[in-house]
Amino acid sequence: MTFRQPIRLSLSLALAAAMPFLVVTAARAQQPANPPARVAQPAQAAPPPPAVKLPPLAIETHRLLNGLEVVTLESHRVPVVSLQVWYHVGSKDERSGQTGFAHLFEHLMADGSAHVGPGEHSRAIEQVGGSSNAYTNDDATVFSETFPSRYLARVLWLEADRMGSLDITQANVDDARQILAAERREHIDDPPYGRVTEDLYATAFASHPYGHITIGPMADLDKATLAEVSDFHGTYYRPNNATLVIVGDFSTPEALAWAREYFGGIPASPAPIPRVTVKEPPQTSQRRLTRSYPNSPLPAVIEAFRIPARFSVDQYPLVLASEILSQGRNARLRRSLVESDRMALQVFGAGNFTEDPNLLFVGAILTHGNSAADGEKAVNQIIGKMRTAPVEPAELERAWNQTVARLAESRQTDQGLGDQIGEAAVVGHDPALVNEELGRYLRVTAADIERVSREYLTAQHSTVLLVEPKMAPAGAPPGP
Ligand SMILES: [Zn+2]
Repeated sequence: MTFRQPIRLSLSLALAAAMPFLVVTAARAQQPANPPARVAQPAQAAPPPPAVKLPPLAIETHRLLNGLEVVTLESHRVPVVSLQVWYHVGSKDERSGQTGFAHLFEHLMADGSAHVGPGEHSRAIEQVGGSSNAYTNDDATVFSETFPSRYLARVLWLEADRMGSLDITQANVDDARQILAAERREHIDDPPYGRVTEDLYATAFASHPYGHITIGPMADLDKATLAEVSDFHGTYYRPNNATLVIVGDFSTPEALAWAREYFGGIPASPAPIPRVTVKEPPQTSQRRLTRSYPNSPLPAVIEAFRIPARFSVDQYPLVLASEILSQGRNARLRRSLVESDRMALQVFGAGNFTEDPNLLFVGAILTHGNSAADGEKAVNQIIGKMRTAPVEPAELERAWNQTVARLAESRQTDQGLGDQIGEAAVVGHDPALVNEELGRYLRVTAADIERVSREYLTAQHSTVLLVEPKMAPAGAPPGP
């Protein structure tokens, strides 16, 4: 089945590739009586931000009478269109006892509708030389297709058919459940450190549904009835909870006419779409947990800090802080823990910026002979420095360059543009935010990074997971 691309796991799969961050000093060194002495340095002027401009994207937003949002961006470089359908429903919309439903529907959407047989949707795209994919995360479920532009009407029709007449049967639910169970084993249970994300989230969130991950335990899905599943579908997979993002070589008036023709007859939900209103209470002290996993032989430390939402003002200095801590060869954690002290095999970090406030991670997998506690101490020292001194001009410059390169690169394809526009429209509630982000990054100063480090990367706002290797059974020979 085509829609197999796993969930964009907030972080767990990204352990290897994540972007980093700083962490808190675990010790109560909040207000050191004696600020660390600063070595006198030649005055370094703050670097000017890169003189980069990304041309503003000429996005248009329309809304059909049934509430369906249509966001378009014409780009006639190549005769290709990328279409995305964003349903504003993710794992945070699942009620307690019904986890896994959003991911279930990512798969059910491939199982057939009134005029399209099981698996035919993706086959129809492939037959015209296109490709399709799907993913589910905390906030949204996204279906995307990239194909030669003359097939836009056909692909819109395919998406409308499954929005309006999805075939939800017990057999389809049972089949999807099998696939989900296999994905759970592949991505969570079997990989080394695969359970880290799930364990951290369960501890870091007490009230907000971000406390369960998208690919959750199978228990809820195993007992779900067809009526419960259908009810979830009827509530969320409606035109007034969806956004079409169309990018590429097409005419907007023509695309809108097709959208009206194919989607216009699908009724909106009778009641407003329910939204998550629960707010996670402020964290007042550090939370800690220690775990051992069967296939994770080296100790590790992962610290998770509470951070504000995607598109919030503080996101931008936090992302750059994370770059400086853990991205690339010159990242502080890497230089110190991996290259200089050789105490870590790998360091990683990333901010999971989502519709509601989430977590920023930083961590290390230690080499033999170093304990998770050693790792925590070392990581905390480095994060402590982020909070007490401005980053170097060269570090800020590098972080800018990396961030700008990433933004620019994802604009090279219609699919990448669609990703950015869809996220702004659905998670940020304003497609025009895509035109703001570069400027927001370039306005960040070293003082901003120091400030957000002090505000968010503190022990009080952290959850710390220490991974200890499993003890050898009694009588086993001593380890190396
Ligand atoms: Zn899946």
